Amino acid sequence: MQHPKRLRAACAVLAAVCAISFAGSGNWVFADEASDLAQQLQQAQQDKEQAEKELEQAKETTEHEKQVSQQLKNNEQTLRNQISSLVGQISTKNEEIAQKQNEIAQKQAEIDQQQAEIDQRWDNFKERVAAMQVMQSGGTIAMLGQVTDLTSFLTFADNLQQISKYDNQVLEEMAAQKAILEELRTELEIQQTELETQKLNLENQKSQLDATKAALSQQIQQQDEKVSEASANEQAAKAEYEAAYAIWKQAQEEFDRLAQSNPGSEVIGDGTRMWPLPGYTSLSSYFGEDREIWPGYWDYGHGGVDIPAPAGTPIHVFQSGTVYSSYLSASYGNVVMVDHGNGLVSIYAHMTARLASVGQVVNVGDVIGTVGSTGQSSGNHLHFEMRQNGVRVNPLNYISPS
Ligand SMILES: [Zn+2]
Repeated sequence: MQHPKRLRAACAVLAAVCAISFAGSGNWVFADEASDLAQQLQQAQQDKEQAEKELEQAKETTEHEKQVSQQLKNNEQTLRNQISSLVGQISTKNEEIAQKQNEIAQKQAEIDQQQAEIDQRWDNFKERVAAMQVMQSGGTIAMLGQVTDLTSFLTFADNLQQISKYDNQVLEEMAAQKAILEELRTELEIQQTELETQKLNLENQKSQLDATKAALSQQIQQQDEKVSEASANEQAAKAEYEAAYAIWKQAQEEFDRLAQSNPGSEVIGDGTRMWPLPGYTSLSSYFGEDREIWPGYWDYGHGGVDIPAPAGTPIHVFQSGTVYSSYLSASYGNVVMVDHGNGLVSIYAHMTARLASVGQVVNVGDVIGTVGSTGQSSGNHLHFEMRQNGVRVNPLNYISPS
């Protein structure tokens, strides 16, 4: 905040110096003061440009960090979807395994039932065979108490044989059926093992994804910190830029005020006037308009008129006079100011080239420069400004486009 103070001090000194300077003929004191201000302005200009560059960089950094953050968050969302899908698959697998276990249990119950029947039938069979053996050895006639004659004995023995044959056949069939059941159970068990392997596989995939997601979450947190940091830096850079811009604007205003002090020289010529850009009669901006000259910065009350024309178009001085200022301004660009006497000054700004030097006497129509877009300008045009006793006035009150 030292700059504005220094500038105010410089200007206070300047007012007295200017009065002395322009009372006489030379402008060397003016030049000394001007060079002081010019130096300050140059510094302010450099600071502003540096601050602007840093602000741009800070913005880019924030943008980049935000993009990285967004990418990470997209990846996280993808992982979340994958994990959610795996959880669903595992759940399905668990249901399938439970079903398979039920089927195995059922099959086992069938096998057990079959085995019980086999055991029962085997016991019966053994009893019958034992009885037959006893009969054949002939020592246990007593067992055949109900057999009263030979015929019935033979029938009985034959029946026993038939029964044992049948028993044998049934037992074989039952054993075969049991073997089939066991095979089916084994198959179910293999299927269950397969399902469990698949489930384990899914669970492994899920734990890997969980680990990746945890790492990613940490990365996202770090990235969000980077984004906050970048945003804070950007805010700081913006504040610095605004401060530098304010200092530069003030320095520029002080500098321009010095350059535009009306020296009050004599009237030269007969006062004939002409439009400075003959043939270019349409205006892109009128005197007194409010315009946004820089994003967020408004120029209230346009100081002159803007006349668009191609770069390099010759600019003619609108009335005879004496050039009292010709310099490169940060805002006006290449600017020439001509004193016409009686407190009237005309100003020609944003020129590509200045073709008139301080102290030069110019006659109406002389070319003093060419159209350009230097300084704070967004395209090729002539900023044509006029001052009466130091106050900006509408140039169209003095000369009409033609
Ligand atoms: Zn303008």
